[in-house]
Amino acid sequence: MSATPLMQQYREIKSRHQDAILFFRMGEFYEMFYDDAETASRTLGLTLTSRNNGGAADVPLAGVPVKAAGDYVRRLVQHGFRVAICEQVEDPKVAKGVVRREVIETVTPGAAISDDLLDGSRNNYVCAISRSPVTTSRPSDPDTMATIGIAAADISTGELRLAVVTSAELEPILARLAPREILLARALAPGRPDIRFTNSLVTEREAWEFDGALARDDLQKQFGVLSLDGLGIGAEDALAVGAAGALLRYLKELQPAGVSLAHPIVERAEGVLPLDEMTRRNLELVESLRREAHGDRETAGTLIDVLDRTMTPMGARRLRQWILAPLASRRAIDARLDGVEEFARAPLARESLRMTLTGVRDIERLATKAALGRSTPRELGWLGGAISRLPAVRATLREVVGGDSRSVTNGGSNGNAHVGASLLIELLEAWDDCGDLVADIQRTLVEDAPMGVGEEPTIATGVDAELDELRGLRDGGRDAIARIQAEERQRTGIQSLKVGFNKVFGYYIEVTKSNLPLVPSDYQRRQTITTGERFVTQALKTYEEKVLTASERIEQREREIFDALRARVGSAVARLQRTARALATIDALAALAEVAAREAYVRPRITDDFALRIRAGRHPVVERMMPRDKFVPNDVHLSDDARVVILTGPNMAGKSTILRQVGLIALMAHIGSFVPADEAEIGVLDRLFTRVGASDNLARGQSTFMVEMAETSAILHTATSRSLVLLDEIGRGTSTYDGVSIAWAVTEHLHDTTRCKTIFATHYHELTQLADELPALRNYNVAVREVGDRILFVHRLEPGGADRSYGIEVGRLAGLPAPLLERARHLLRLLESEQLVKPKAQTDATGQLGLFAAAPHPVVERLADVDVNALTPIQALALLDELSRQAKTF
Ligand code: ADP
Repeated sequence: MSATPLMQQYREIKSRHQDAILFFRMGEFYEMFYDDAETASRTLGLTLTSRNNGGAADVPLAGVPVKAAGDYVRRLVQHGFRVAICEQVEDPKVAKGVVRREVIETVTPGAAISDDLLDGSRNNYVCAISRSPVTTSRPSDPDTMATIGIAAADISTGELRLAVVTSAELEPILARLAPREILLARALAPGRPDIRFTNSLVTEREAWEFDGALARDDLQKQFGVLSLDGLGIGAEDALAVGAAGALLRYLKELQPAGVSLAHPIVERAEGVLPLDEMTRRNLELVESLRREAHGDRETAGTLIDVLDRTMTPMGARRLRQWILAPLASRRAIDARLDGVEEFARAPLARESLRMTLTGVRDIERLATKAALGRSTPRELGWLGGAISRLPAVRATLREVVGGDSRSVTNGGSNGNAHVGASLLIELLEAWDDCGDLVADIQRTLVEDAPMGVGEEPTIATGVDAELDELRGLRDGGRDAIARIQAEERQRTGIQSLKVGFNKVFGYYIEVTKSNLPLVPSDYQRRQTITTGERFVTQALKTYEEKVLTASERIEQREREIFDALRARVGSAVARLQRTARALATIDALAALAEVAAREAYVRPRITDDFALRIRAGRHPVVERMMPRDKFVPNDVHLSDDARVVILTGPNMAGKSTILRQVGLIALMAHIGSFVPADEAEIGVLDRLFTRVGASDNLARGQSTFMVEMAETSAILHTATSRSLVLLDEIGRGTSTYDGVSIAWAVTEHLHDTTRCKTIFATHYHELTQLADELPALRNYNVAVREVGDRILFVHRLEPGGADRSYGIEVGRLAGLPAPLLERARHLLRLLESEQLVKPKAQTDATGQLGLFAAAPHPVVERLADVDVNALTPIQALALLDELSRQAKTF
């Protein structure tokens, strides 16, 4: 079957981009053919047409205008497609035969640079995951043995992170990075047990691409170093290096012109407090569980919503990274707390910093775009504007550290003063105003530079003599043309005669119909319009030639100057990114100080001890949803000899709130934030778990008992004595007996074996009986007052267990019919009196826990009456026979 040369070219290119939708540039449109056209028309609602393919069957075709392409690309990528952008890479005017075309970029969810696809307040990661061959030495438990290498890149900010983790740590790190796209080696794909990231597009790559040795070479080349050691990458990072190699190779395919990446950040597991997906969700750190309750804003009702008072996108991303990767060492936490405290003590400097940072654009992403040669004049102008604020930022920073804050001693362990230079001083010492770049940009570009070089001026006057001269010529030509109108009116006597311009015909003289008889003979007719005729004259053509050539050369010259400027700025990308990162840290620290001041938070005392003590703690999010001072603060103390708290109380009393408040305060302390309390002492944790029972977990509508058990099991396997475990109901997804039994056993395990700090909020007031058995367990309840036949929620935590669950009262509040409530009360009395479920534990003679003890078994009663010495062997045998028969029929 023959095809036109164009279609041959299309097929050749498409064959190399099978897994992408190919946007094939044809003039002012991107065209899609065959399946791509069908997919696009379905997804984007485009009209499907067809094109005749040189005689053979028609080819399905759909197109989008180049000007609007950004939006279509965004929609396709959001639907999980890849889009390959194929451009004409030679000028159609000079091309011989079919214009040469090349794919200049493939856009995927994980590899996006355009603003359409990015959210300023968060990173956009693509991750590659490389797994060691599963060890057979412990076949029983291969999963926990596997080591996993992760490389994560955000090509819009130039960030590259490497980490080597165990498979248990994989989920927390993925939960934190929330990659839009994950690369896996093909061989790994079938089982793929660890990756439960349904939101990420999974891209399979050949296994050899993850090869460590190959990757090492590629990385050394990418970063221009002879050895990776200098980047802090050691032999133990081989798996992450392998992943990075696969990632770089993939990115090079997507961006043939290359990507700009800063030196990799090697994450060490011990530096970060891992948060699994469950905990991140249940504590509502960056995403609300009840989205519908807060409208569509994803972060409403979350911790980040309360804490994010950053002024720049860089700062917002930094704060988000901090929240999702809390610190795990006292030194690091204290260093950050020092930074926050310095800003907290300098309200005036903080305010002036906020003013300085107002409207500062995304330096990190703008610099990356410049390095990739993709910024528009306007974006380069924005970049210049943003970095021009740096000297002012430096000045405020001086003020902050220059004050008496250096002499501030603060709560390191045991009240020791913190030693070493503060974060802020370190930032000041490495400060770079990038003044040369600001000067260069601001001198070269006009103010408010346009989106593209061409119609409006981009380059300022006085920058380039040639450009200025060309502009003089063009303007002279325009003036001459303007003069022609006056001259011709006078010569012809046609007062309505006009000189006009359009793109197709250039300059013309327009004469209305009634005046046509007055037109001189040297006018040449060009075009007829409904109201008259358009003409040119020799003089007009001469000036037109001058103007148009000058305009063309102006555009060309402007483009040259702009490209050179962009290249100069782009080559400084490493400096700009370092600066952007310093600014991000400052912005985030100042934001935490700002919240601390506004919300009356205090600096937590961080210790290496076990204890966690919170005096008058509040829930940072819930307190903001009510009028000031309406939130009831509570104390919570957990120490080695009182490490497990059973929290009871009726529905709506505030159990979940207290539980989460403890989790949030502990977490805020680990990110280096002040906390909502009058006083807090926080022993550094190694893990934080928060799980919420299936019945309470609104977000996972279809959550099953199985999921609940799997989550509980994960906690029991991972938690250590340094962990904080917060459980909100366990065992609600099964029958009461099952449920209580599991909850009971889990509590015993946490108390005796794990020995971690635990708070367990439960409806099962039966669990309060555990206090008799477990020495380090304490009962607390969230009190309610009964006023007449009403319950008053006072939200106050009190020692002791709740003796009843008030479920029926809550049912009454909710409007259940009175006769039904009466019946429920009756049944409850019946159940309790029949001792099916006793309100209090009973320990019987054998010391067995009699939680569900009914009346003693008849066989037992009978045995208790037997006097063995008085029995003959035959009698004994007969008795045994009788007892055995009785036992069988019971
Ligand atoms: P439970 O888990 O016991 O069913 P919640 O923790 O969900 O109860 O609390 C129910 C509601 O009570 C919350 O939505 C909040 O409005 C309010 N509440 C909880 N704790 C407090 C408190 N300490 N001060 C003021 N209001 C509170």
